[in-house]
Amino acid sequence: MEQLAEKEIRASFVNCSKGEAGRINLPRSLPETPWDELDFLGWRDPGAPDRSYLVTGYQGVLTGITLRVPTGIRRSLTRTNICSFCATSHAGSGVALLTARKSGPAGRQGNSVGAYVCADLACSLYVRGRKKSQLIERYVENLTVEEQVERMVANVGLFLDRVHLQGEGEGY
Ligand SMILES: [Zn+2]
Repeated sequence: MEQLAEKEIRASFVNCSKGEAGRINLPRSLPETPWDELDFLGWRDPGAPDRSYLVTGYQGVLTGITLRVPTGIRRSLTRTNICSFCATSHAGSGVALLTARKSGPAGRQGNSVGAYVCADLACSLYVRGRKKSQLIERYVENLTVEEQVERMVANVGLFLDRVHLQGEGEGY
């Protein structure tokens, strides 16, 4: 993706108020971000570990969403250790359920959607082999890196479709 300035990032958020977007803690290492190797910018809030953010191009528009690690949701027995964006398997807490408030009126009414994804949102780097999960072997796939990137971008797009879909929240 192309390099982003702080102002563009703050202006991109679709599921929080302008005031909230102005207070978001950006990644500390923003100047050293490897933009060439990212399809989306994702980071954990350095000051609030239960918050994460994702910024990417969506339908031609730079789109940011705020994400939370929900509290009070009992982890189900079917909890997965595979990221639903990039298909990387992780040990332990490497995959987290992150929820996003929906955009627009549905979000203001408290509706949200969720997905199990790499807790550090570094999917772009896992797919390219630039970052390794704690599991020794990445699940081997008969897909090229390009194909995996394409699939990941499509999955992130589907998640953003759900964020924008007006109506009640879905199950996680
Ligand atoms: Zn991932």
